[in-house]
Amino acid sequence: MNAQGEGIDLTVVVPVYNESENISSLYQRLRHVMVRMGLSCELIFINDGSTDDSLDALRKMAKSDDTVRYLDFSRNFGHQIAVMAGLDHSRGDSVVIIDADLQDPPELIEELYEKMQEGYDVVYARRRSRKGESLMKKLTARVFYRLLQAITSVTIPVDTGDFRIISRRVVNVLRQMPEQHKFLRGQISWVGFQQTSILYDRDERQGGATGYTYRKMIRFAIDGITSFSDFPLKLATLAGFVVSFFAFLYMIWTFIAKIVWPESHVQGWASLMVSILFLGGIQLISIGIIGEYISRLNLNVMNRPLYVVRESNIQ
Ligand code: UDP
Ligand code: MG
Repeated sequence: MNAQGEGIDLTVVVPVYNESENISSLYQRLRHVMVRMGLSCELIFINDGSTDDSLDALRKMAKSDDTVRYLDFSRNFGHQIAVMAGLDHSRGDSVVIIDADLQDPPELIEELYEKMQEGYDVVYARRRSRKGESLMKKLTARVFYRLLQAITSVTIPVDTGDFRIISRRVVNVLRQMPEQHKFLRGQISWVGFQQTSILYDRDERQGGATGYTYRKMIRFAIDGITSFSDFPLKLATLAGFVVSFFAFLYMIWTFIAKIVWPESHVQGWASLMVSILFLGGIQLISIGIIGEYISRLNLNVMNRPLYVVRESNIQ
């Protein structure tokens, strides 16, 4: 499927989920940039189970332009998997990943490409500012990236989405990484080689609504953390030690009290309740954390295909 060496310089991968309002202007702007750059390019759109008429738009574009290739998923598999499918089918020597909603300006591709020619394998576009996003989204994103940085062993650049250019050899390594829960920005950092960034101002989504619900964002955050850190597991152990230490002190106190004041009347309902509830809480949280990691293991062991394609003009 992924025939290489066909003389394509640049592949642009675009995940699409209910973006019919944006697709045609995105396409115009991308075309414009591609022409100006004078490279041989292909555009790969992945329709991630859209419920609007994004697919029709893609079919039409593919008909009139043979550099447009598309994959239509059998259902919504999620943004990261859509991008991965694009990488799987890409043929270019370099690959750009860009959102379909025009939050990432296509014109920046030229700058990304030029920077890459200085000898980098990854050039990611870092957000200097982000427009038109809710305070809650900005705040949660900010906290999440900082937290991730604090607890992971690979350095994942802060304030960076998936908008970036990567080289063929990075794509090849990514394709060898078997995890089912993809967290591409972390995986790309993990790959190594020479990586750098350029700054940009993130635009507002042009039309339509975000496909990232809070539910998907939480899932994504958990995937990021569990992919690149075992800190939560260690936290469970640490909590166990801390609680046990205080419990031990209290135990000694209880013995002493029993000996010194043997006649003291029954006391301690409050402390009993507090410690039972507290311990119960810690235990449940710890089991939940272990569960997260086990569910990752389980999904990887099942080894299901990452996505199912319903329709495509690729081969
Ligand atoms: N997207 C996708 N599948 C999803 C959700 C989003 O392919 O389940 C695409 C979407 O069409 C867009 C990109 O991923 O091209 C980023 O999504 P979005 O703009 O909704 O996220 P936000 O910018 O709000 O974080
Ligand atoms: Mg967006």
